[in-house]
Amino acid sequence: MIAWWLRHDRRLSDNSCWEFALKEAAKTGEEVRVFFAWNRLHLDAGIGGIPRMSARRIDWTKKDLKMMRTELQKHGINLEETEGSALDWLRTHRPSTLTYSFAVAHEERQDEAQLLPLVKRIQGFWTHSILEPDSIPGGLNQLPEVFTPFRHKIERENLRFELPPLLVKPNVESPTSSSLAFPFEPGEASALARLIAYMGNPEGAAEYKTRRNGLLGTEYSTKFSPWLASGALSPRRIWQACLSLEESLGGSPEVEWIRVELLWREYFQWVAYRAGSRLFIKKGFREQSPRAGFNARAFQRWVDGLTGDDFVNAGMRELAETGFSSNRARQNLASYLIHDLGIDWRYGAAYFEAQLLDYDPASNWANWAYLAGVGNDPRPVRRFNTVKQAQDYDANRAFRKAWQQ
Ligand SMILES: Cc1cc2nc3c(=O)[nH]c(=O)nc-3n(C[C@H](O)[C@H](O)[C@H](O)COP(=O)(O)OP(=O)(O)OC[C@H]3O[C@@H](n4cnc5c(N)ncnc54)[C@H](O)[C@@H]3O)c2cc1C
Repeated sequence: MIAWWLRHDRRLSDNSCWEFALKEAAKTGEEVRVFFAWNRLHLDAGIGGIPRMSARRIDWTKKDLKMMRTELQKHGINLEETEGSALDWLRTHRPSTLTYSFAVAHEERQDEAQLLPLVKRIQGFWTHSILEPDSIPGGLNQLPEVFTPFRHKIERENLRFELPPLLVKPNVESPTSSSLAFPFEPGEASALARLIAYMGNPEGAAEYKTRRNGLLGTEYSTKFSPWLASGALSPRRIWQACLSLEESLGGSPEVEWIRVELLWREYFQWVAYRAGSRLFIKKGFREQSPRAGFNARAFQRWVDGLTGDDFVNAGMRELAETGFSSNRARQNLASYLIHDLGIDWRYGAAYFEAQLLDYDPASNWANWAYLAGVGNDPRPVRRFNTVKQAQDYDANRAFRKAWQQ
């Protein structure tokens, strides 16, 4: 039997694991079985006893798996969900061949390493990133310490991808007029529908750079992140979609900026890969010594959106009530916890991990480390003046009114 361990690659289109499983099955006549393991990374608690996943993120993931199950059933394959490790599943079912998507973060990689002795044939693929370790210009060891040289190196490569056709129909309506930032559904069909709608909207991708610091509604940014995190959307497909739109517009710095942001994501993937467990420690992989402690009451007030700062409070309420937060708000929320409340950044990162529908270990922990001054930022302190930020980005108070207590 050929097993596909489904992880953060929950799509059929542009997914080498799926292509590999089908090809092997055609060659050997073996059946394909697909499983998802609800394991310690979903169900355990993290630092300070903060759960790894909020009830909302669990629901979102369950719904996502349901969508994936429906797609797989069209190919006569059942998606199995199990509670426990992938190792347990493999010990019980003993496949001849295993395929899965590689992960970059430390614990996820530990899970992979456990499987190696158990299956005769294992074929892993890089489906979550634009690059692979071997295609990073200069190699992983030459990964620049800061983002800009990394960006320039990639831009010189003029990356393009030949992508296979879509295997799932984007047959759902993609909302564009909601007051919520993220009123979308999980799964590949919704992800593709959003990609098409946003790329085609003259007030969407074509104005991305201008609007990307917005705080309200669906169109101020791509909203691709939750689908990127689950794997419903391939970063290479977004990259190609941007290039096509740029070409059709005769060049567009607005659209191009989406690719720059995707490169931030890419950069943090490889930063996380290289940092290993050091990404998750207080002094970070740069071995700085942040002066921070933990004050349970102040932390709880931050979580509840009951600090002395109404902009931060609005952001925390949006996060708690929807599982989404704009990049502008996230920076302010994190900066406030770290620099105004003096709390150890890892508690904030753990809380975001639980809440964010788009939780991605590399993006979350590397952004937090960056803001705490223990990551890839040449500046020792990256503190946001949240009062000034509110004036600059929420002058009419619409965001604060939308999320007031
Ligand atoms: C403290 C903090 C925690 C974060 N945690 C996460 C996380 O867990 N998961 C996550 O996907 N993003 C995280 N981000 C990055 C960023 O805020 C979100 O990716 C973005 O807000 C998602 O909305 P969007 O898809 O509309 O982004 P857009 O502005 O449309 O950007 C397009 C894509 O570029 C990537 N991107 C943009 N900004 C960043 C960034 N700073 N770092 C990495 N990738 C970026 C994302 O994949 C995003 O989908 C975090 C940022 C901060 C400051």
